[in-house]
Amino acid sequence: APTPPPTRHHFSDPAEVEALRGNLLAWYDRCKRDLPWRALAATEPDADRRGYAVWVSEIMLQQTQVATVIDYYNRWMQKWPTLQALAQASLEEVNELWAGLGYYSRGKRLQEAARKVVSELGGHMPRTAEALQKLLPGVGRYTAGAIASISYGQATGVVDGNVIRVLCRLRCIGADSSSPAVIDQLWDMANALVDRSRPGDFNQALMELGATVCVPKAPLCGECPVKQHCQARCRKLFGKPAPVPDVEDCGECGKISVVAPGPGPAATVTLVLAGAGDCPLCPPATEPWDSSLGVTNFPRKAAKKQPRAMRTATCVLERRGCRGGPEYLIVQRPSSGLLAGLWEFPSLPLAQDLQEEKEREMLADHLQALMGQPVAAKGLRFIGEVIHIFSHIHQTYVVYSLPLDGDVTLDPASSPSRWVTEEEFHASAVSTAMKKVL
Ligand code: SF4
Repeated sequence: APTPPPTRHHFSDPAEVEALRGNLLAWYDRCKRDLPWRALAATEPDADRRGYAVWVSEIMLQQTQVATVIDYYNRWMQKWPTLQALAQASLEEVNELWAGLGYYSRGKRLQEAARKVVSELGGHMPRTAEALQKLLPGVGRYTAGAIASISYGQATGVVDGNVIRVLCRLRCIGADSSSPAVIDQLWDMANALVDRSRPGDFNQALMELGATVCVPKAPLCGECPVKQHCQARCRKLFGKPAPVPDVEDCGECGKISVVAPGPGPAATVTLVLAGAGDCPLCPPATEPWDSSLGVTNFPRKAAKKQPRAMRTATCVLERRGCRGGPEYLIVQRPSSGLLAGLWEFPSLPLAQDLQEEKEREMLADHLQALMGQPVAAKGLRFIGEVIHIFSHIHQTYVVYSLPLDGDVTLDPASSPSRWVTEEEFHASAVSTAMKKVL
């Protein structure tokens, strides 16, 4: 059987758990940020609407900063205040409102799931984390836990990036924090720690702590409400983690002395593991504690994969509109894959390392097929390059322009397309990357 992780990496003392909950909640009550979804979750009497309000916020907050989300959230809730209203929206409307928020499939999936709640679940949100995760497409373990604890008071934990950081520091967990073994341990810990009477506030407090105090680069340990429970801080100040009640020494898990429970005089049992590196939660032996990093030794992640480099030729086709101003042609992307269903200037992915002349010819051929009329490669004017970083793609758009005289009839068999003014372009469901192009 695998060796159980040392007690140091858990909260094994019920009194400490109680104290940590109390300290964290008292801090949250004093310092929490005023956020629109928190106000709704606290005051909305309709349980389905409460769950919906938290759900929308949680989906928007995935991969996106709070400050950016607030405006989108307010506009979304004003436009679609209920699940029923969202279920009736078109995907085009959803994409338009979502434009600029990134990771566009989130909006689409949210709307699909709202339709499911309305058509298959009688308009009622599932009330537990398990049912939310099972029944709602796009709702994973974290989102389900957040909705169930915040909206419905279920005593269930959550683990997101902020919680991972805080828990890894509190318990000196230095193994790869994206590995399934560590993630499982963190879920167990979050479920054990969550306050039974205020689970939603506790979860938000833990996340808030990670977002505002226990931040990635320069955590404010001096102001931290749970600093007395923090093993990483103790290690930084005193050179080793604090002793825990039933474990006297943990030479980073090389040797553990445990006070054996039971009647009679306490007996100390020393467990000697096969050497540093055996513990599934400690830093690997090849990456020991770096004192210059202090508490930011935790958490650790395996090296990130480099984003994939991609090159795409894109052409701003311009004509004089009926009101005299310029108009631009935009086409819709396929309904699945990257930036699904969004609009863009006609674009063509390119192989790396093509000669400029070849890129130009390929783009001209692509435009010719789209418009059904000859396009001379030398008529394409090179404008410049626009770089946009998606989470996993380093995208370079090679931008050309082509002014057109007269009208253009597009092949009806190709993707949907339309002419727009500059103002209409910015109001359309176009990605941030395309906005950089115009
Ligand atoms: Fe994070 Fe510092 Fe608080 Fe520990 S003491 S939880 S490292 S802010």
